[in-house]
Amino acid sequence: MNRCSRRALLRGVALLPLAATVADGLITPTNDRYFPSHGTYAHHTISYDLKLAYDPDSGSLQGRAHIKAVANRRLESVELDLARLTAHSARIDGNTVRARQHKGKLLLEAPYPLAQGAPFTVDVSYGGRPRPVRSPFGPIGWDRTGDPHDGTLVASQPLGAPSWFPCNDRPDDKAAFTFQVSVPHGHHALANGTLRERRRNGRWECWTYHHPGPMAPYLAALYTGRFSHDADNLNLGAAGSPIALHNAYPARLAEPARHDLARQPDMLRAFSNYFGDYPFEAYGAVVVDAELAAPVENQTLSVFGSNHIDGRRGWETLVAHEIAHQWYGNSVSLRNWRDIWLNEGFATYAEWLWSEHIGEDSADQIARQEWRSLHRRHQDLRIADPGHRHIFDDRIYTRGACTLHALRRAIGDHRFFGMLRTWHQTHRGASADTTAFINHADRWATHPIKPLLHSWLYEKPLPPGLS
Ligand SMILES: [Zn+2]
Repeated sequence: MNRCSRRALLRGVALLPLAATVADGLITPTNDRYFPSHGTYAHHTISYDLKLAYDPDSGSLQGRAHIKAVANRRLESVELDLARLTAHSARIDGNTVRARQHKGKLLLEAPYPLAQGAPFTVDVSYGGRPRPVRSPFGPIGWDRTGDPHDGTLVASQPLGAPSWFPCNDRPDDKAAFTFQVSVPHGHHALANGTLRERRRNGRWECWTYHHPGPMAPYLAALYTGRFSHDADNLNLGAAGSPIALHNAYPARLAEPARHDLARQPDMLRAFSNYFGDYPFEAYGAVVVDAELAAPVENQTLSVFGSNHIDGRRGWETLVAHEIAHQWYGNSVSLRNWRDIWLNEGFATYAEWLWSEHIGEDSADQIARQEWRSLHRRHQDLRIADPGHRHIFDDRIYTRGACTLHALRRAIGDHRFFGMLRTWHQTHRGASADTTAFINHADRWATHPIKPLLHSWLYEKPLPPGLS
């Protein structure tokens, strides 16, 4: 640890003036974000109330979004993200307003200037045939599933949310969500949170879900189609009430999926011990009838591809990974995508903790293997600021987890797990960044820990110490 010189610390700070300003409580300048064309700091959202009707025959979606928000400064217009769908009409505070769409933005003229701090409402009627949005990571967001294409999925991380509803698409603009989704009778609709009502109306059925969140738009999710669905209540032994646990799969995958997901309750219990109380009222996994590059940790409802089910728990580390994201990534979310190691390093370390928990390789053994693997790779990535095209580089995941393991070795198990639990407790339902994490970890150390963390997070060469 002493090998991490003062020079390393200063170089890290010199390269990250932005992180320092955020830590000082200043707002990140828009042009300094990784994806500045998504989201706005002009307002923040309180709630989204989405009424959706999806017709699988035509692939068309009709939507009405009722959004409650607060102006962060005086506003003469309201900016939302909406991609590849058409806004038919819009109202602000009940007044019909002019709407303009351009390059994934929906711009609404306010009927009168909205004062800084003033709450306001937006209603948008919209529709069309939703399709994935283009991104540096390929097409993401809404897509169709199954053969024939009578199902749909949402996998939005990081920029796909505007493919199905108008939103303020920032990872740190978190809100409550209600979904009322009409699909043909015989189809399911699955969304974040808990099912409040299921109502038949002729050949249609309306499914209502509510999630108090708060939740970032990219973690909102909707799945429609034909599923086998299992539901149960799970008591995690904490003071709170039991959580609703539910899984859904295409009927042909139900048996292997039940086997592959069977240890979710054990994972939720183990992680509640490591990280503190489970942060939400529900959890579930949905397996879609399509292959996915990777599972996605939608809030309370992770999604897996059919290729992640093999009946032999061959992908169980990812089952653990997505559950861990409910604490780290979803409950504590990012201020900026540059900090994504706070999601992926933590969830990857949870995979190692799960391995240790079930008596397989210890986190220490896995960390040493991963360090050796990283040592053979190019060392050209600054994991706490990798550049917007590299936020899903696998080195973010493994070096991020190695960073946590280096910290665990430096401060000892007792302080390390106390640090993990209080990181969640402190930022639960909010957003955080790397500077806040370094300061938090430093408070749990008995000796200076910042040089160690700076060398792991901001220096490109791999620090020694885990081999
Ligand atoms: Zn992840």
